[in-house]
This record gives sequence, C-alpha cells and structure tokens, in this order.
Amino acid sequence: MNDCLFCRIAAGKIPSKKVYEDESVYAFEDIAPKAPTHVLVIPKRHIARLADVSAGDEALIGAVAARAAAIAKDRGLADFRLVSNNGAGAGQSVFHVHFHLLGGRPMTWPPG
Ligand code: 5GP
Ligand code: ZN
Repeated sequence: MNDCLFCRIAAGKIPSKKVYEDESVYAFEDIAPKAPTHVLVIPKRHIARLADVSAGDEALIGAVAARAAAIAKDRGLADFRLVSNNGAGAGQSVFHVHFHLLGGRPMTWPPG
C-alpha cells in the first residue's frame, strides 16, 4: 500500500516522532495533538479500518491495544482514552487502522 500515509510512516518513508516500534506495531505522535498525550498506535500491516479486521487479526489488534495501554503507563497516565474512528461519518480521515491514545487532560463523555 504505497499510497497509504500510515503505511509509509510505519515503513519510515515519511518522518514521524516515533514512540514505539516492533515487528508488527508502530506508535507515533499525532501531528495535530488534541491532548497533552496524543499518540497514534497502528498495526504495521495495512488494514483500512476496524470493520475490515478479519479472523486471524485478533492478536494483532490486541497487541495494538495493549501497546497503547503500556505507553499510557510509561507516561504515568492513570486515566486515558483509546479511540478508533471507523468510517468518514465517525471522523476517520486516514484509512489505515489506528487507535488514538489521548490523555493528560480531563475528558468529557460522550465525544462529539
Ligand atoms: P482519524 O481522523 O482518521 O481518526 O485520525 C487521523 C489522525 O492522523 C489525525 O489525528 C491527524 O492529526 C493525524 N495525522 C494526519 N496526517 C498525519 C501525519 O502526516 N503525521 C502524523 N504524525 N499524524 C497525522
Ligand atoms: Zn496503510
């Protein structure tokens, strides 16, 4: 997926402020942070959105979510929010599965 922004970021072809990387997961600072901590955690393998996750992807998605929690813990965030917007109507603008890790300020519910 050469034309996918987050595939290119995960491959190091587009610069990002890397937070974490292993063979299957990549995490980086959001370019337009909406909270003091705003990290995007993604699978390196291209999956367009959460609705496209299929059988066999559970461990990968679990690793992404667990890594987000580990990053929050590293930053001393007892409270945080993990969000994945699925589809344009839900606010998704980059079509490569990503979880927003948001923290460091009070959060309201429900989100807009
Ligand atoms: P979405 O709107 O799809 O849920 O989230 C996409 C996120 O990607 C947004 O929060 C946006 O700020 C971030 N983003 C878009 N382009 C870039 C980029 O080139 N670099 C980084 N680090 N973040 C980006
Ligand atoms: Zn991609």
